[in-house]
Amino acid sequence: MARYTGPVCRLCRREGEKLFLKGSRCLTPKCSFERRSYPPGQHGRENQFRRGRASDYLLQLREKQKARRIYGVMERQFRNYFRRSTQQIGLTGVNLLIYLERRLDNVVYRLGLATSRAHARQLVQHGHFMLNGRKTNIPSALVSPGDTISIRPESLRRAYFKELRQDFDDRHIPRWLSVSGDLVGSVSHLPARDDIDVPLNEQLIVEYYSR
Ligand code: SF4
Repeated sequence: MARYTGPVCRLCRREGEKLFLKGSRCLTPKCSFERRSYPPGQHGRENQFRRGRASDYLLQLREKQKARRIYGVMERQFRNYFRRSTQQIGLTGVNLLIYLERRLDNVVYRLGLATSRAHARQLVQHGHFMLNGRKTNIPSALVSPGDTISIRPESLRRAYFKELRQDFDDRHIPRWLSVSGDLVGSVSHLPARDDIDVPLNEQLIVEYYSR
């Protein structure tokens, strides 16, 4: 399964804002964007002052790229989510965000079981989670209302999950998800737009694909 393997902080600098792709490091002074907020590349620093008014196309493209980078999805899969979103009832942009939120790696991150979506993806790929009691190592698996996400008993013996159990903090779990004492997460309903706290203007993404 393809994924981006280049420098991660470069993506934040390209988008001109912090995308919080590296977990706790993003909140420290080590954050690259705090130190170098200009675009990457040889002429990045000069170009930041030369930019005129951005075209509509550029705004739409950047918003689409930002969404892909936040959720760690490659272009083909992202386009696929968009196509499926157009076939659903409701606003296409919101449907797209709901698809992205329903990914298993995102849900593991939202449940507070990983420090970032990239970390969640790695944990899922290494087979540490079960979806409805069955081992699942596919980060793009989509969850539905009523589904449960649990840690495999073998994995619970690992130091990372032992520490997580001791220090678990459920304050930031969105209301469409819940976690019980043994770190078993469940999906109560699909998220509404208000439940998705990503800094995205989904309408621009719809316009990008509707050109
Ligand atoms: Fe972005 Fe986090 Fe890197 Fe800062 S540390 S540039 S927020 S990925």
